[in-house]
Amino acid sequence: MTLHSTGEYTRDEAPGWPTCHEVLARLYDYLDDELPADRAARAAGHFDLCPPCASRLRFERAFLDRLRRRGPLPHPDPGLAPRIRALLRAHPARGQSTIRGPAW
Ligand SMILES: [Zn+2]
Repeated sequence: MTLHSTGEYTRDEAPGWPTCHEVLARLYDYLDDELPADRAARAAGHFDLCPPCASRLRFERAFLDRLRRRGPLPHPDPGLAPRIRALLRAHPARGQSTIRGPAW
């Protein structure tokens, strides 16, 4: 990986390593231990080498820790899910999502 002047690592000479964009797109999966072990290890390697992503990881981890210390979250209004589904039906997506499975 190479850290560019933009502060972002891109995949070039190290194929298989996640880029900043890829690792941040899966940040919550990483924090929730929901990544497969090999991907979690590559993400951890990225965080070790990339100060901007490591900073974001620390912030998000602290945020989640603080949220969890507040206790269980209240249950949503039972009518919320049907309202969201109705909105999604009324406003279908106009293109493909930019979120794809990881390339790493
Ligand atoms: Zn990064």
